Amino acid sequence: MTSHIMPTYARLAVTFEKGEGAWLWDDKNQRYLDALSGIAVCNLGHAHPAVHTAICEQSAKLLHTSNLYQIKSQEKLADKLIEMSGMTNVFFSNSGAEANEVAIKLARKFGHSKGIEKPAIIVMDKSFHGRTLATLSATGNAKIQHGFEPLVEGFVRVPYNDISAIKTVLSENKSITAILVEPVQGEGGVNIPASDYLNQIRTLCDEYDILMMLDEIQTGIGRTGKFLAFQHNNILPDVCTLAKALGNGVPIGACLASGKAADIFTAGNHGSTFGGNPLACSAGLAVLNTLSESDLITQAAEKGDVICAAFKEKLQTNSHVLNIRHLGLMIGIELDITCTELVGKALNTGLLINITQDKVIRLLPPLVIDNDQITQLVDTLSTLIQEYTQ
Ligand SMILES: *Cc1c(COP(=O)(O)O)cnc(C)c1O
Repeated sequence: MTSHIMPTYARLAVTFEKGEGAWLWDDKNQRYLDALSGIAVCNLGHAHPAVHTAICEQSAKLLHTSNLYQIKSQEKLADKLIEMSGMTNVFFSNSGAEANEVAIKLARKFGHSKGIEKPAIIVMDKSFHGRTLATLSATGNAKIQHGFEPLVEGFVRVPYNDISAIKTVLSENKSITAILVEPVQGEGGVNIPASDYLNQIRTLCDEYDILMMLDEIQTGIGRTGKFLAFQHNNILPDVCTLAKALGNGVPIGACLASGKAADIFTAGNHGSTFGGNPLACSAGLAVLNTLSESDLITQAAEKGDVICAAFKEKLQTNSHVLNIRHLGLMIGIELDITCTELVGKALNTGLLINITQDKVIRLLPPLVIDNDQITQLVDTLSTLIQEYTQ
């Protein structure tokens, strides 16, 4: 059968029909352990009852009215996000790339308010910020950009986790108005910077009066063992973007602002037809209430430690395993050989994993993964890695 879907994804030959927690079932009723969560989206697991109930109840009342009117669930979700993040205000979008577009527009308008004609943003090698023209231009991956030139201008690239490179650019380029960075690079290979990297960026942004903008689209919503990854550093960015797990599968993104970024936009500066609609916000509110009424975020930190310690023990004698690293439940196992084939091998044993940068096994299990599932994940994947690297 020919597909009428544009071939932008090399899809695996499996169709899932239902899920529960960290389990998924395909259309032949085969069960799989999901160690990817739909790429860091279903942090509460599949078919979470709180999300299910919230969107059922909301859809029975009202799906959409537009931002021409007051939206109670949008206000409530904003209040909850501000309470949990310490930020000041929020714009709701429908995706991560759109949230980053807001951040980029904030940086540009901030620059113009300071009399800078061509504001520029410092971005990182190996970063990922999305697939719209501006966000793919910000992204540090030539494969994603190739074929879509001319790119959007106004981005200056430096290596990740390199403060002196940022200092050099800041001292030479007076058009810089913001730094956009992921607290941990996801698509870039689960790259975890020095523990004071974000603190040093905060200091530089204050010194140069520019915006510190964090892309927490993958690291946010409990994934790293804090609600937001910057909370490991006791700092507050000026801008923080969210999406992925905010709706646990219902599309919603958000751009949070604080300090000097909170008052940049005025009426008419940005908009979205769907952004912050009642359905999406009811899902977001259910997610945040569930996280704040449970200890799932603490569990993410603990489970991440347990999983990594177990992998380290099982794989310690394997010379092809270069590094096992994690922040909470954002886990990377780096090999010295290409291992994209492991995705199919794992699928055949009923396990969903992902490979980034060809050599890094990326695991993003749901925060609700239980002890038996953790054992299954570690045993199955360790065996696959041992066989593959023999
Ligand atoms: C997934 C992701 C994005 C893009 O989000 P979309 O919802 O796919 O547009 C941007 N930044 C990071 C860090 C991501 O992980």
